[in-house]
Amino acid sequence: ATSPKNDHEHIFCSRYPPVQVPDNVTLPEFVLQGGELYADKVAFVEAVTGKAYTHGEVVRNTRRFATALRSLGLRKGHVVVVVLPNVVEYAVVALGIMAAGGVFSGANPTATPTEIKKQVEDSGAKLIVTNGSCFEKVKGLEVPVIAVDEEAVVEGAINWHKLLEAANRAGTSHNMEEVHQTDLCALPFSSGTTGVSKGVMLTHRNLVANLCSTLFGIKPEMVGRVTVLGLMPFFHIYGITGICCATLRNKGKVVVMERYELRTFLRALVSQEVTFAPVVPPIISDLVKKPAVDEFDLSKIKLQAVMSAAAPLAPELLRAFETKFPNVHVQEAYGLTEHSCITLSYGDNGYSRAKKNSVGFILPNLEVKFLDPETGRSLPKNTPGEICVRSQCVMKGYYNNKEETERTIDKDGWLHTGDIGYIDDDGDVFIVDRIKEMIKYKGFQVAPAELEAILLTHASVEDAAVFSLPDEEAGEIPAACVVLAPDAKETEEEIISYVASNVARYKKVRAVHFVDSIPKSPSGKIMRRLLKDAWVKNVKNI
Ligand code: AMP
Repeated sequence: ATSPKNDHEHIFCSRYPPVQVPDNVTLPEFVLQGGELYADKVAFVEAVTGKAYTHGEVVRNTRRFATALRSLGLRKGHVVVVVLPNVVEYAVVALGIMAAGGVFSGANPTATPTEIKKQVEDSGAKLIVTNGSCFEKVKGLEVPVIAVDEEAVVEGAINWHKLLEAANRAGTSHNMEEVHQTDLCALPFSSGTTGVSKGVMLTHRNLVANLCSTLFGIKPEMVGRVTVLGLMPFFHIYGITGICCATLRNKGKVVVMERYELRTFLRALVSQEVTFAPVVPPIISDLVKKPAVDEFDLSKIKLQAVMSAAAPLAPELLRAFETKFPNVHVQEAYGLTEHSCITLSYGDNGYSRAKKNSVGFILPNLEVKFLDPETGRSLPKNTPGEICVRSQCVMKGYYNNKEETERTIDKDGWLHTGDIGYIDDDGDVFIVDRIKEMIKYKGFQVAPAELEAILLTHASVEDAAVFSLPDEEAGEIPAACVVLAPDAKETEEEIISYVASNVARYKKVRAVHFVDSIPKSPSGKIMRRLLKDAWVKNVKNI
């Protein structure tokens, strides 16, 4: 059983022995290793069109794209923003950037042009990779654009396929720089515990270490046999690391879905014989509640497990799912971008399962402690506190943001997650609350500070506070308390529409309440918890 390392500090380790993390391999080398042996086996297949790439093609195209990027002038440390939905080329794009020494920064393809421009500027990107459907959003930015579309030529963009052909003709690039594990390879964006979205600096080492910890239970006989649903967004760390990289490493197959639609999802489960489906709780809810599910012969699905991550899974939902799908194992996982993906989880690979509603045990190689938010002291078992984690997966820091980095990673290397949880006598961990500002709408991050800044640009808004409200379908929704200027005539709906016209759809404020003032702490911090509790309890004069 997991036990504290010493009596003074309650530090918990995995109940499984440490796993070795190889030195001197970059992330692309690590995940593509052995691909030649599976050269003819499909690695990525599009769920609707059937377009596919084999492991052999992934290996070759990654090398070619890296060569092409070098010829376009990409150098070590240069950032490339990728604005793509889930497409079969996605992993090759990301790994090619990394193999060339560049830094992959995935952007949400549903983001507005302004939001994408901000990511391009904040990250200092030298290149953008997109496709015809997203091109409009990046047009006009002063950065060269590559489009991955095969047939359609996107005016104003460099064609990805032509680039690969040219790289193939030219042979191996002679101007590759040596890439080390300590070099950055990814810059996803996350709001962390406070404020707006920030670039999360992840190194090759961070991601290789995370994959080693996550995949420790995979037995040799499972290599090449797993078919994984690629529905979770690949721009997010859950998609690129947890789905694409993990499946490439195991020589499995990813069934790529560009967008979620229940019937397409079910059709893909059946026709592609998906065995493992990483999802978020709202999809589990659909599987339990939506009548469309009954149109399918569920006895035909080969699904062995679903993984629920990114947001809490309600106990009633878990029970209902298990009743409807008795042969499908539900595996929960907890993680965060700042920790390179999964942090706590449990597998069904011959290892013991965690208890229901536990997010699982501490992965090998990680140390975890639970801090009393008031005193900052570490707490013993069975006592909820802020989850702090220390491992080789902890990000290098926030890009160009020393202050937030120091607030998040303390001097002893502990990453403060902003989540509250506890560990029980058996080493199973339970998440009970989130104290950071971040809102999770269907698993997507929404930063209150960003929405407050937008609200304040409205001429009639004097002050605003954004916070989460519980929601059965989405998990949480963003809500706002707004102080209007004295003579303002706007309605709540007008304020909602104003925000909606400025942000990606998932970020929109879904409820507004006018108030006389916003409660703030003596240091000027918005007391969001107080507003949320008052709203939930239906207090009239918040
Ligand atoms: P992200 O960086 O977008 O992956 O968001 C990370 C945050 O999502 C965590 O800090 C948690 O607040 C939340 N989260 C992730 N997984 C879970 C889970 N299984 N249960 C509850 N919250 C989760």
